[in-house]
This record gives sequence, structure tokens and C-alpha cells, in this order.
Amino acid sequence: MPIFGQLDFDNHEAVHAFYNAEINLKGFIVVHSTKLGPALGGCRCWKFDNEDVALSDALRLSRGVSYKNAMAGIPYGGGMAVIMADPRTEKTPEMFEGLGKVIESLGGAYITAEDVGTNIDDMRCVAKQTDYVNGIPRTSGYVGGDQSPRTAQSVIEGMKAAVKVAYDRNDLEGISVAVQGLGNVGYQLCKQLHEAGAKLIVGDIAEEKTARVVEEFGAEGVEADQILNVEADILAPCALGGLLTAATIPWLSMKIVAGAANNQLATDPDGERLFQNGILYAPDFVVNAGGVISVSAEREDGADSAEVDARIKMVGERTAEIFAKSAAEGRSTHAVASDMARAIIQSH
Ligand code: NAD
Repeated sequence: MPIFGQLDFDNHEAVHAFYNAEINLKGFIVVHSTKLGPALGGCRCWKFDNEDVALSDALRLSRGVSYKNAMAGIPYGGGMAVIMADPRTEKTPEMFEGLGKVIESLGGAYITAEDVGTNIDDMRCVAKQTDYVNGIPRTSGYVGGDQSPRTAQSVIEGMKAAVKVAYDRNDLEGISVAVQGLGNVGYQLCKQLHEAGAKLIVGDIAEEKTARVVEEFGAEGVEADQILNVEADILAPCALGGLLTAATIPWLSMKIVAGAANNQLATDPDGERLFQNGILYAPDFVVNAGGVISVSAEREDGADSAEVDARIKMVGERTAEIFAKSAAEGRSTHAVASDMARAIIQSH
């Protein structure tokens, strides 16, 4: 498909394509918006079927990140990098140094970090070529490093806000949570949920990850493709996006959806579909902001860990506000939160 035929364009500022055959580096950096500041967003390394799918993912993810950063109240716009490669077999240090050069050439318009298929080691390679990279552990006591525990923390705040509305409860003790995807964030989420007394039902396409969470946190493990079919109070998507569709939503047993994955809705109307089915959806771009809140503290004001905790707690309050507005206006939480994010971006 020609680039401009992509349906996912939504006033994106720029699409940068890169292809260096020598180091097998191929992909896109998409900047959705720099109105609030430089575009801050992760780098996804994935075996996309083709470049249309990769570009579509980057367009959707970068818009989601724009909304996330706006809602988190941090001075950053939204962007995303996607590398077309299998993270298990095709990643190389040279590839990420190459990406670092591309990012450096953009002069700060885009700042990267880990996402699906990338990790701290990859970001260290990026950092050899550019300072426009986050998520690398610095000196001890400094709030840098792996963002996943912070992302899990904000998801928990969103879950608590949802449990308050759906069950009139202030804690997660005994609440059952079905977690899809047990990578960086999914694992951390399970750890924190276990500490909070929640019951876990988990599934990852990588069986060893499921086995680890079963062993460490007493979770019930299921086949990855069964996780949407289990009985639970909360569904926590923590893998790739697009799992909430016209085909899956009517069959969900869960009263709440709250997870870390970006773009959980296959399309915007699926937000309305969740609402009509009586499922309380904590918008992904609101509740998965803990990582960027931490990164922003790292780059902007060096806030200490307690201050970052306090800022992440605000995610729960913001989510509660969205739930209240959605109920009062009879509109989906996704529509309410998207309007709020757009208004923040446009007001600058
Ligand atoms: P990750 O690559 O570490 O983990 C993703 C996991 O999902 C992997 O273990 C993979 O095997 C599994 N998976 C993939 N497809 C699956 C399927 N169909 N069923 C079950 N498991 C499947 O990535 P991550 O950093 O943990 O990110 C997870 C999600 O959260 C992504 O959507 C990402 O964009 C989003 N997110 C992450 C962060 C962060 O701090 N890392 C912040 C915000 C949002």
C-alpha cells in the first residue's frame, strides 16, 4: 500500500523510514506530535508481516503515546520507533547502534526507550550514538533505569480506581486478574498484584514465562490463546495490541479491562462496544503512563523515588475522573479520555 494510503494517519507530524541492508536495520520512526515537547516513545522490535503492518503499528502507537504523555501531564509529545526484525533471532548490537544514528540525525525530535522486543542492553547500544534515549540504569538512587515496574505500578492504580467503581472496594485482595503477556511489564504487574493479594491467571506464548509466574507467584497458568476465555474480575492485557474486537468483547467474563499494552482496542469503536457491554475499560494510554512519568522525572527535574510514587498515584485519580465523566455523559471511557488528551494537546 502507498504510504499515504494508510488509514491510521491522524495529523501525524512526520514519518521517517530507515533501511540499512548491511546491518539488517529496517523500519520507521513516526512522530505524531511535538506540540507539548519532543516526541518521547518506545522502540518496538517485532517480526511484522510486512512494512504496511509495521507502519500502521507505528502510526497508531505514536498517537497513543501522544495521548499518554498529554494525560500524564509531562512536557513531551508522542512518537514511536519500529524495527522490522524478529527480536529472538535477528537482533544485533549493530542494529541498535544504527538506530541510534538515525535518532541522532533527528536532532532531538524523537527520544526512544524500551518497548516490546527491546531491552536495556539494546538501549545501551543506542546510547553509543545518541543521548536521545531513556531507560538505562544510572547511578544508584537515581530514578532511571527499567521503566517496567513503574508502568506496572500505574496500571495497579488504574485497577484500584476500576475496582472501586465496579465492586466498591479499596483494595485488590482476592480480586482475580487474568494477565495476558508476561514480559517486562506483565511479570512486574504479576509481582505487584501478588503482593496486593490478588489471584492470578496468566498466559504467555513463551511457556517458560508462564511457568516462572506460576512458580513464583502461585498463579494459575493457561495456554496463551485461552486467557480471554477464563473467568476473572479483571483482564490485564500486557502483550501486543488489538485484542479487544467485535469478536472478543461480547465473550469476556471480566467486568474490568485494565492493562499495560498499548492499543488494546482494535479500533476506536471498540471502546463504545466495551461500554455497551458493561465492561469498565481503563484506557490503556492513561493507566500505562508510569514508565513515562518516571522517565520525565529522570530527564526533567530529577524527582526522587517518593515523588515519582506520588505522581504515579495521580494516575488512579485521573482514571476515576474518566470513569465518572463517562458515566455522567453516557460515553465510553475511551472517547472521554481521547477527547481530554486531544484538548490538552490542542491547548498548546
Ligand atoms: P515484552 O516484549 O517484554 O513482553 C511482551 C510479552 O507478551 C512477551 O513475553 C511475549 O511473549 C508476550 N506475548 C506476545 N504475544 C502474546 C499473545 N498473543 N499472548 C500472550 N502473550 C503474548 O514487552 P513489555 O515491555 O512488557 O510491553 C508489554 C506491553 O505494554 C506492550 O504493548 C507495550 O507497548 C506496553 N507498554 C510497555 C511499557 C514498559 O514500561 N515496558 C510502558 C507502556 C506500555
